[in-house]
Amino acid sequence: MNVNDSESVAALLDAVGHTRADNENDADVVIINTCSVRGKAEDKALGKAGLLCAAKREQPLVVGIMGCMAQRLGEGIFERIPKLGFIVGARRHGSIPGILARIAAGERGIAEIGEAGEIVDVPHAHLDGGHAAFVTILLGCNRRCAYCIVPDVRGPEHSRAALEVLEEVRTLAAAGIREVTLLGQSVMNYGRTNRVWFDGSAGTNFTEPFPRLLEAVAGVEGIERIRFTSAHPSGCSDELVRAVRDIPQIAPHLHLPVQSGSDRILKVMRRGYTRADYLNAVVRLKAARADFSLTSDVIVGFPGESEAEFEQTRTLMEEAEFDNAFIFKYSPRPGTPAAEMEDSVSEEEKMRRNQVLLADQDRRGQRLNDLWVGRTVEVLADGPSLRNPARWSGRSPQNKIVVFENTGQVAKGELVMVKIDRAAPQTLYGKRC
Ligand code: SAH
Ligand code: SF4
Repeated sequence: MNVNDSESVAALLDAVGHTRADNENDADVVIINTCSVRGKAEDKALGKAGLLCAAKREQPLVVGIMGCMAQRLGEGIFERIPKLGFIVGARRHGSIPGILARIAAGERGIAEIGEAGEIVDVPHAHLDGGHAAFVTILLGCNRRCAYCIVPDVRGPEHSRAALEVLEEVRTLAAAGIREVTLLGQSVMNYGRTNRVWFDGSAGTNFTEPFPRLLEAVAGVEGIERIRFTSAHPSGCSDELVRAVRDIPQIAPHLHLPVQSGSDRILKVMRRGYTRADYLNAVVRLKAARADFSLTSDVIVGFPGESEAEFEQTRTLMEEAEFDNAFIFKYSPRPGTPAAEMEDSVSEEEKMRRNQVLLADQDRRGQRLNDLWVGRTVEVLADGPSLRNPARWSGRSPQNKIVVFENTGQVAKGELVMVKIDRAAPQTLYGKRC
C-alpha cells in the first residue's frame, strides 16, 4: 500500500513538472513514506529523516515525511526533527504538490495531517510506463486486531465506488498495464461498509461485492493477471473460492496472513477465526485451482505466547505448506489493546522463534520450489535483475520470482515461457523456451 501511495505522489509531482533525481544526493526534496506497523520501521524513518536534515549541503535539502507515522505522531515530529520541511497524513498526500509550491516560496514546517478516517479525495495517480500496477479499492480497516495500529492511522474502512475502480483499471489497461493488484487491508471486505455498485447491473455470476468486482475487472480487455491483497481468512466465502476457480485471470496465489497457529493466541489477537477455520480455507482454495501457491504473515512473541503455542504456529505453517512467509517479531504499538498486556516474551526468545520459523520456511520453500524443476512456467518479465543485467527476472502466476537469461528479445511486460532448471527457497531459475 505504501509503494502504491509513493507511486501516486511521484505521478502527481511528475504532472506538475518536477523531475525525479537519480539518488538522494542530487535531490532538492526527499519525501519519506512511513510505516507504523512496527516500532523498528518508525525508528528507521525517524533516523533517516534526522540524518538527511543534518546533512551539510550548499542548498539545504527539504525533507518531508508522509504516511502512517506522520498520521500517528502528527506535529510532534517537529519537536524531534525541527528542520523538517513538512509532514503529511496518511490520506492527505494529494496536497504534496501544493506544499512543494509553498516550500519553493520559502515556507517551512508545514503540517497537513487531517483525521485518520476523513473521506477526502485520495489521489490514485499512476506513473506512465510499466506493466503491473496497484489499484486501491479499500481504504482503512475496521477489524481492530489487538496488536495492530493500522485502524488508528489509516482510519475506518471505506470502499471506493466500483465504477471508479473499473475506470481506473480501464485507463491502466489502455496504457499497457497487464497485471493489476487490488489493494486493501482486508480486501474481501470490499463493499461491506458502504455501497459500491450504483448501476444495479444484472447478469453477473456473483452477488457478493468483492467477487463481483473481480469478475468485472477480469472483463477489462488487456488485463491478463489479477491479484489482490491482503486477504483475510473470514473472507474466503464460497463465492470467493468460486471466483478464484472460475475467473482464469485471477492468479493462483494468495497472501493469506495467519499470524498464529494457536487458537488461544488467535482469540486474544481478535483475529476472528480458529486454526481449523484457517486450514479449511486453505484446503478449499487449493482445491479450487491447480498449483495454487500460498504465502502468509506470522507474528512471533505475541504477549503470553508459550513455547507450545509457538510450536502450533510451526506446525500450522507446515500443514498449510506456505510457499513463503513474512515472519515478524511482535512489537507493542502504543494505544493498541495488546500494548496493555505484558510484553512477556524476551527479545532473545522472539529472535530465536523468528530464526526457527525462517529456517523451517527455507527448507519448505526449497522443497516446494524443487517441484517446479523441469516444468515450464509463464513469466511476466519485470526487467534485468539487479546483480546481473544479462539475467532478467519476472513473476510466475504463483508469484514466484523467476530468473532467466534474456537473449535480447524480451521486453518488460512481455509474457514469456521459461523452463525451470534450478530452484532456491525463494527463486526459480530457467531458460526461455
Ligand atoms: N491487513 C493485513 C495486515 C497489515 S499489517 C492483514 O490483516 O492481513 C502487515 C503485517 O504486519 C501483519 O500481517 C502482521 O503480521 C504484522 N504486524 C502488524 N502489527 C504488528 C505488530 N504490532 N508487531 C509485529 N507485527 C505486526
Ligand atoms: Fe491490522 Fe487486523 Fe486490520 Fe490487518 S485486519 S490492518 S492486522 S487490524
